[in-house]
Order: sequence, then structure tokens, then C-alpha cells
Amino acid sequence: MTDATELLRRTRDLLAAHPPATTGRTDFLKARFDAGLAWVHYPEGLGGLDAPRSLQGVVDTALAEAGAPDNDPRRIGIGLGMAAPTILAYGTEEQKRRFLRPLWVGEEVWCQLFSEPGAGSDLAALGTRAVREGDTWVVNGQKVWTSSAHVARWAILIARTDPDLPKHRGITYFLCDMTDPGVEVRPLRQITGEAEFNEVFLTDVRIPDAHRLGEVGDGWKVAQTTLNNERVAIGGARIPREGGMIGPVSRTWRERPELRSHDLHQRLLDLWVDAEVARLTGERLRQQLVAGQPGPEGSGMKLAFARLNQAISGLEVELLGEEGLLYGDWTMRRPEHVDFTGRDAGYRYLRSKGNSIEGGTSEVLLNIVAERVLGLPSEPRNDKDVAWKDLAR
Ligand SMILES: Cc1cc2nc3c(=O)[nH]c(=O)nc-3n(C[C@H](O)[C@H](O)[C@H](O)COP(=O)(O)OP(=O)(O)OC[C@H]3O[C@@H](n4cnc5c(N)ncnc54)[C@H](O)[C@@H]3O)c2cc1C
Repeated sequence: MTDATELLRRTRDLLAAHPPATTGRTDFLKARFDAGLAWVHYPEGLGGLDAPRSLQGVVDTALAEAGAPDNDPRRIGIGLGMAAPTILAYGTEEQKRRFLRPLWVGEEVWCQLFSEPGAGSDLAALGTRAVREGDTWVVNGQKVWTSSAHVARWAILIARTDPDLPKHRGITYFLCDMTDPGVEVRPLRQITGEAEFNEVFLTDVRIPDAHRLGEVGDGWKVAQTTLNNERVAIGGARIPREGGMIGPVSRTWRERPELRSHDLHQRLLDLWVDAEVARLTGERLRQQLVAGQPGPEGSGMKLAFARLNQAISGLEVELLGEEGLLYGDWTMRRPEHVDFTGRDAGYRYLRSKGNSIEGGTSEVLLNIVAERVLGLPSEPRNDKDVAWKDLAR
């Protein structure tokens, strides 16, 4: 197995052959991918070296110190965190070779066409239909809350292919070309004023069978890989100490002594400790993963992330007093990426509200932790054996 010494040797070779100062950004990123230094735990030939996932930091740090460009993970988060691991787990060799390199380099942005107006927490109830016509699937339906759809070239999509089966069994997973003329993307404005996400209307969208991921009818199983990775991507991102939401409020505390009070001091310290515990727990989860796919444990991380972000950003607004109530800019924008900790305190406070909804609501994640981590009895489900078409909607 490739160790840290070998990774550092390869990193030095990459830097010598493609000096960041004289190599174009995309060319450097392509060379990094081809050297197996993109995501080191991926297989050789697909941007990795089958190395332990925990060694990624060795490469990232060495490249950052050398002034090498990164692939702007905030812009391509859905591709990196959700589409890629699912393609790796279920894709054909052809699909892996076609999609993973432009995804990692950032030439192709991805979005996630899962949620629908009638199917969010109960995602398996989804009604978007895919009907097979020879080697093509014709897709009709509506998706909603689709982050980054306005900049995406590709989407991961789940659609109903057999309405006669119970809801979890008649779903199939596809890779959808967002430039198909049947794809219409309309902005949805959020509480922050921005439209990070969209509603997406699919009208006779034609998807070649070669862009099906996994077997027909296996879409629910394939989607679990996406959802488990999504929770780790949202809640378990690698951050330095004070790198997350706790960073800005700690800085304000240090730099603005006139705002301090005993009560806020105690609460800030409690949250600082909680943030550090969550950060270190994320680190341990990543080390446990080594390689392979995350399980339901990531739901706990994502739960903690949402709770902490809301509590910390609330404290920050309180600390700033009247100043905290000012909101800099409510212009309707369609941002290319999301930075939870970016901009001003008001933005952080409002944006964090979505953290307990996106990637699964906190209530639903509590159910997952209860059932699949703690082994508690599951919620009563009376629709497991009923054909989807016969369900009340
Ligand atoms: C910022 C943001 C970005 C998003 N991006 C995407 C995206 O890119 N792609 C995508 O497909 N989706 C996306 N979503 C959608 C997100 O996954 C859904 O909003 C979420 O799954 C909840 O679904 P819903 O909105 O339909 O709410 P509902 O499922 O209708 O839930 C309403 C309320 O009922 C509660 N509830 C529902 N079922 C249960 C239960 N069994 N037990 C206890 N409580 C329950 C929920 O917790 C919630 O409080 C995004 C959402 C947000 C906020």
C-alpha cells in the first residue's frame, strides 16, 4: 500500500514536472489527477493510488505549501462529495473513466436531482417517471431545491421506473445531462436573498441507458451511497481548529472586548468546546473510513454540524447586538458556490437555518441514528409492501 513517504515523493515529482508558477491551473489539476494525487484513496488510473484516505492531508498540505492551485471544492462540492463516490461504487469502467476526471478537475459541475415537491424526507415516494424506449429513457417530472442546477453540466437523478412495485423498489438511478433541451432550471430565492437552489422541470428528457448507474430498480440502494456520503460531506468536512462557524465569532470576541459579557463568555466557551469535539470526531470518522463508503454514522456528524452552526451563529448575532441585526446585501444572486461561514454575521445566521434541512432534516437523521446506529425499533411503516401507484399522495 502507498505510504506517506511515497506520496510525498510523487508530490515532489509532480511539482518538478509541472511547476505551479508556470503551469496553467487546469493543466496542473489534470496532471495531479493523472499522478494519482487527486483523491489518494481512489483506485490507480482514477485519480488515486489505493492509499489510505487519512493520507490525503499529506498531499494537500505539501501542494498548498508549494503554491499549487486547488480544484475549488466549494464550487464542485456535490460532484466531489456525492456524485463521485456513487459513480465509483456503482459505475461501469466506461462511466468512471468518462466522468471522474472532469468532475475532480472542476471542468464539469454536478447537481443532485433527488427532492421533489411531494418527496423530501420521504424521498422514496418520488414521482418523476423514467420510461424506457429502446436504449433511451424518457424522463418527465419536477425536482426542487436543486442546489447549483444553474451552473451544473451533469446531475445525479433518481426516477421511478416501475410504479407497480413498492416505493423503494421501483426506482432507478441516472446521470442526467443538464444541457438536454427538456431540462428547465428556475431559481428559488432563499431566506438569505440568494438563489443557491432551483426548481428543475424535466420534460421528455432523453437519457441513454449507458448513463444508468446500477441496475434497473436498484436506485434506492444506489441513492443510499449518495446520501451517506452527502452527510459526511456536509457535516464531516476536514477543517482546522476554529476553521468552521466558531472561527468568526471567536475572532470577534478577541478583537472587540467592548462587546463581551460574562454570560456570553460562558456560552462561547461551551460552544467552542463542542465545535472542537465535533471537529475531532469528524477526523476520527475519516480515519475509520480509510477507504470505502461511509455508513449511517455520518448522520450523527451532520446532526451535530447543524445544531452547532445554528447555536454559534445565533450567539454571534447576540454578541454583535444591534450591529448583528444589519444585513449587508439582500440582492438576489445565483451564487456559484456556498460558503456557510462566509460574508457577515447576518448571512451566517440565516444560512445556517438550512443546515438542519439540507442533506436530510435533523428529525429524519435522528430516526436514522436511532434505527441504524443504536438498533432501536423502527418507525411504523405501513406502505412497505404497497405498489407505489396505489399509495395515497
Ligand atoms: C439549502 C438546501 C439545499 C438543498 N439542496 C438540495 C439538492 O441539491 N438536491 C436535492 O435533491 N434536495 C436538496 N435539498 C432538499 C432537502 O433534501 C429537503 O428539503 C429535505 O430532505 C426535507 O424535505 P422537505 O423539504 O420536502 O420537507 P418534508 O419532508 O416535507 O419535512 C417537513 C418537516 O417534517 C419533518 N418530518 C418529515 N418526516 C418525518 C419523520 N418521519 N419523522 C419526524 N419528522 C419528520 C421534517 O423533519 C420537517 O421538519 C436542499 C434543501 C436545502 C434547505
